[in-house]
Amino acid sequence: MKKLFVKTYGCQMNAYDSARIADLLAPLGYGAAVGPEDADMVVLNTCHIREKAAEKVYSELGTLRVLKEEKAGRGEAMLVAVAGCVAQAEGELMLRRAPVIDLLVGPQTYHRLPEMIARISRAGGKALEADFPALEKFDALPDAGARGLSAFLTVQEGCDKFCSFCVVPYTRGAEYSRPPEAVIAEAKALVAGGVREIVLLGQNVNAYRGEAGDGKSWSLARLCEALAQIDDLARIRYTTSHPRDMDDDLIAAHRDNDKLMPFLHLPVQSGSDAILAAMNRQHRAEDYLRTIGQVRAARPDIALSSDFIVGFPGESDADFEATMALVRQVKFAQTFSFKYSKRPGTPAAAAPKQISEGVKNERLQALQKLLLEQQDAFNDAAIGSTMDVLFEKPGRGRGQFVGRSPWLHPVHAEGKELIGKILPVKIIARTANSLKSVLE
Ligand code: SAM
Ligand code: SF4
Repeated sequence: MKKLFVKTYGCQMNAYDSARIADLLAPLGYGAAVGPEDADMVVLNTCHIREKAAEKVYSELGTLRVLKEEKAGRGEAMLVAVAGCVAQAEGELMLRRAPVIDLLVGPQTYHRLPEMIARISRAGGKALEADFPALEKFDALPDAGARGLSAFLTVQEGCDKFCSFCVVPYTRGAEYSRPPEAVIAEAKALVAGGVREIVLLGQNVNAYRGEAGDGKSWSLARLCEALAQIDDLARIRYTTSHPRDMDDDLIAAHRDNDKLMPFLHLPVQSGSDAILAAMNRQHRAEDYLRTIGQVRAARPDIALSSDFIVGFPGESDADFEATMALVRQVKFAQTFSFKYSKRPGTPAAAAPKQISEGVKNERLQALQKLLLEQQDAFNDAAIGSTMDVLFEKPGRGRGQFVGRSPWLHPVHAEGKELIGKILPVKIIARTANSLKSVLE
């Protein structure tokens, strides 16, 4: 069990929000910590009403920086998030002034925390979500320097799919795709600022349908093709996709577009057709498996990732077993799995036959054990092979650097000034969560 410590500043409303943040993170396996010392994640839920509010937060962040460094020395990680009105008011400035921060959320964007945590652990880097009006946000010039070598680029927002467990269609509104010209301009600015890898983001990124100036509608595959023409851009990724929107041209792009990395995050949630129907996912397990088959035919080495929910209302032992069977069949490289938790206002929250906490825990444990075995097997299979790594940051030891393989393995190597370079390495061993390598 991971531990969460939320420090609340200010009014009752903030205290209420802090409780919601804890609720939101519980399905990710976070229980309450006594203090920052024993926490895997610390959230400062800030309030702007008092004088010098920001200074107080910065001073607290100074203390957390020392603690985070001490923990890093012991090989332990700690995520630091700043939420609330100070985060909203300070925005990117705060990330620059206090690099200890991993995540920043405004008061209207708490609901994105689980997704942001997932994003960071998938792709590294930092995440900022403050609720600015869409136009203002998209018009803001990206600060590539602050984003490092791998940058996120939002191309699509919102969702019209209304899965019965999910709040996104209510909180983020209808699907909206940015025009391709705006995305390409932003990508060029990022690359000019030193970015080598772009991760295209959207709640349903593969449902992207951007309307170009000539009135033509672009698919995600076409957008990736255009982005691949940017010379110094080496790698393109995209997340999160929906199985129903995995079109033939996107599958073909995994065969034809060299810059599109061989990694696909395609959430299935469950392997049971009855549960998939109750979730309103609008596809069956066999549709998902067929899509996976097509993707693998196009790109045989593709690494697969997914999200799972266990303990959805009405999930029987047989339904859960169907999820386990699907996992055994597909073999995933890395995944995210959650216990179902009620989101007020969503249909599933009012459904009969809610599953007990005890059963949810048992199922989550069994599923995660299987998924971890698959992750380890995937990483073990890399040992002895040679792969290109984009080095992004210094590692813990002296002369050590960390980067990502095309398949998103975190890879360590020793060398001189490797950051920003894409170099072939030979994988020599696996540690708990990463691979050890030597430069070729
Ligand atoms: N649009 C993506 C899709 O359809 O796959 C998912 C976006 S959602 C914000 C990220 C993940 O959170 C979901 O894939 C799901 O596994 C999980 N999730 C969403 N609502 C949940 C709930 N009520 N309880 C547990 N997990 C939930
Ligand atoms: Fe939309 Fe994904 Fe939420 Fe379903 S889970 S409603 S597809 S954001």
